[in-house]
Amino acid sequence: MKQCIFCKIAGGEIPSATLYEDEDFRVILDLGPASKGHALVLPKYHAANLYELPDEIAAKVFPLIKRIGGRLARAMGSDGLNVVQNNGEAAGQTVFHFHVHLIPRYQGDQVGIAWEPGSLSEEQKEQILKNYAKEEE
Ligand code: 5GP
Ligand code: ZN
Repeated sequence: MKQCIFCKIAGGEIPSATLYEDEDFRVILDLGPASKGHALVLPKYHAANLYELPDEIAAKVFPLIKRIGGRLARAMGSDGLNVVQNNGEAAGQTVFHFHVHLIPRYQGDQVGIAWEPGSLSEEQKEQILKNYAKEEE
């Protein structure tokens, strides 16, 4: 994708603060970090979101975030780590090239990754299970 900023960063066309690189991925520091050490895992392959990500790349994502996330958390001396991945504008996605956020967390920080728990009614539960079952893989 010629105009995609993350294609350019992942491919090295635009310089970035790179923590890690291999043939399929580049892991960089986020320019607008939610917390100290906020990093982004970028595949070099362009997929707009999770649904478009080829299985071959997807299969490598979790082993990678396990390794890099753990090392990053240790390096930052963080107390926790959020792994966040947004798909679609409604979910907060602003760059339409699949990426995973690694967000180190520190006790008492004010990073806003939280929600008010709602409730799941019996009726809703049945409806959701029915709709999901009807939908194709
Ligand atoms: P999204 O909201 O799509 O899940 O996340 C996009 C992230 O990319 C944001 O956290 C934003 O700060 C980061 N970002 C956007 N443009 C750039 C850039 O040019 N360089 C870097 N390093 N991060 C960027
Ligand atoms: Zn791209």
